[in-house]
Amino acid sequence: MSSQPPDSYVISRRIGDATVTVISEGILSWPLELQVPEPEWRRAMPEADELGLVPLGLNVVHVRLGSASVIIDPGLDDPDTEWQRRYAQEAPGLTRTPGLEAGLVTAGIAPDEVTHVLITHTHTDHYCGVTRERTGNSPRFPNARYVLGRADWDGNPERDRPGSDIATRLGEIERLGLLAPLDSEQEILPGLTAIPSPGESPGHTVYRFRSAGETFFYVGDLFHHPCEVEHLTWVSRGRHQPGVQSSRERIYAEAASANAVVVSTHEPFPPFGRIRRTSTGYVWRRL
Ligand SMILES: [Zn+2]
Repeated sequence: MSSQPPDSYVISRRIGDATVTVISEGILSWPLELQVPEPEWRRAMPEADELGLVPLGLNVVHVRLGSASVIIDPGLDDPDTEWQRRYAQEAPGLTRTPGLEAGLVTAGIAPDEVTHVLITHTHTDHYCGVTRERTGNSPRFPNARYVLGRADWDGNPERDRPGSDIATRLGEIERLGLLAPLDSEQEILPGLTAIPSPGESPGHTVYRFRSAGETFFYVGDLFHHPCEVEHLTWVSRGRHQPGVQSSRERIYAEAASANAVVVSTHEPFPPFGRIRRTSTGYVWRRL
């Protein structure tokens, strides 16, 4: 495991009256296993290595919006933990930065000021940072309400598996009365809305805020690579393809119309970009 220098993994940007800070947790080399013929995905992802591994970012976002202090997708546990050692066996192509906790210090954000933790979905790389091994699995953000799509919580078989991250970590958040599953589109704060976008997982949710005429989306895993902006039908193995496609149709159209700034979890750092309409569909443009 190697680390990037501490100043290369935290970046802030003003969007309307809000400040959006991205903290990178690292780079994950991962096989996307897009369900299209290999020559097609190789043409669209020339950076894929001979095994098909693609370097993905791991972007945690903080939004300061009025009096609210919001974390979106709190990522992984700290780099120097037993949890990390186990995760590195599942994800051997992972390079960590100093991580979320160190990035919050760099950005001047105190964990106990955080009012909301918004989770796009319950895949390991998106939510495990809700608690910290170092402090005995206590919540990283003790005063926050933790929001996620109910379809990723109710009936999630991982909750019944003893020792699973969902049972241990989100289970602790629920036990403390801090978990707030969502049933439908909902305004969480004035201007900030949770929008169900199923497909990647049943409860996958994207988060949008509008401030002073500008729009921002954190889209989680609505796409993992920009080729999935161009090709709305391309999905990774095991995903619900029709769901992914219709979620993309809705969100891409809205983001393009609003000229929104968009961050996805897995765009290489710094991850800011926009979704542009073209004569045939959409394209991703980095900022
Ligand atoms: Zn992901």
